[in-house]
Amino acid sequence: MTALSPQLKQATPVLAERGEGVHLYGADGRRYLDFTAGIGVTSTGHCHPRVVAAAQRQVATLIHGQYTTVMHRPLLELTDRLGEFLPPTLDSVFYLNSGSEAVEAAVRLARHATGRQNIVAFHGGFHGRTMGAGALTTSANKFRAGIGPMMPGVALAPFPTAFRYGWPQEQTVDFALNELDYLLATATAPDDTAAFIVEPVLGEGGYVPADERFLRGLRERADRIGALLILDEVQTGVGRTGRFWGHQHFVPQGPLADILITAKGLASGFPLSAIAASRDLMAQARPGSQGGTYGGNAVACAAALATLEVVAQEKLVENAAEQGDRLIAGLRAVAERNKAIGDVRGLGLMCASEFVDAAGKPDPATAARAQQEASARGLLLLTCGATGNVVRMIPPLVVDAGQIDEGLALWEESVEAAVATGA
Ligand code: PMP
Repeated sequence: MTALSPQLKQATPVLAERGEGVHLYGADGRRYLDFTAGIGVTSTGHCHPRVVAAAQRQVATLIHGQYTTVMHRPLLELTDRLGEFLPPTLDSVFYLNSGSEAVEAAVRLARHATGRQNIVAFHGGFHGRTMGAGALTTSANKFRAGIGPMMPGVALAPFPTAFRYGWPQEQTVDFALNELDYLLATATAPDDTAAFIVEPVLGEGGYVPADERFLRGLRERADRIGALLILDEVQTGVGRTGRFWGHQHFVPQGPLADILITAKGLASGFPLSAIAASRDLMAQARPGSQGGTYGGNAVACAAALATLEVVAQEKLVENAAEQGDRLIAGLRAVAERNKAIGDVRGLGLMCASEFVDAAGKPDPATAARAQQEASARGLLLLTCGATGNVVRMIPPLVVDAGQIDEGLALWEESVEAAVATGA
């Protein structure tokens, strides 16, 4: 009998039979509160009726068109609608299937447009598992170990992770920008540097929000040296942080990005990603460099169109902001009562608790136990961070106050149980 790869390790023991809103229903007959949302993918909740209806209609009409062969309406309509949410300077879009592929497309575009090779990425960033996106990824060595050589032409600079350094925020931002200047004076000369790629909130790297001065500093330096700024909004986009795009917390008036990458929440679970840039910039991609058999699949585009409608009509961005405030306040209260949690961070419905030992060092064992205790209580969570010592909460954007409170109550019990079993 064929088996799944033994390498595949599930974070929870759940065999999901069905999903509805913020809940998953397991083959064990149990109902789970899903605060993973499939790593932030099921933005409108599991099986939102309008997304389901749109996808069903599209399946019966045209499943696959293939954009380098024929055009189809869902892709054109989605492009129009997405334009209403994108910064006005980014008026050209190209579709792929996954976040990693969109990162690859952004790198190709940056190299074509600038004629330069090097991409500056930031410590703790996650941009995907393909050989190009993987080379930009430093959120944990498990994503890189043993598979090199990676794509060359990558230089790494610090991200302002104040808690990890143990410094005040201002000092950490000064340090990060100074190190970037040093990098540009040493490892990657300005006229070899094609782009900077950064997440508005470090995702897999431990849920660390960026900083206004840091992002503005990147923009200024990109302008000064003629490089591009790529914002990876794969995890932060489509309302997750309580603004439609994560970067809008820091630079609401833009323009900030030259290339913006979106995926995950965009199509409520259908595989779809996109890069957005100005038409002038997008036109500098060389012919044949943008494409993919399944990119911009008609069913995925129809689901994305329905997702954007649901996000607007049900005011899910506003809900993410409101419920996110409730969630983070609750997480802070739990942290105050439990010394095992050294920091609580996040924006909107992208929140996390970082576990530390008595010496303030990362404590992945207690984090893992808390995550497992939560699963056993019917609350699904994921860890992240270099050592896995951060437990994140990313419920679907449709979550309500009662469900947040229920999740927080289960969380507190789980943390207490995790600490007690470790003692
Ligand atoms: N960028 C970011 C910020 C991500 O969080 C992820 C996925 N965790 C990716 C890129 C890669 O996306 P995918 O898994 O769809 O290839």
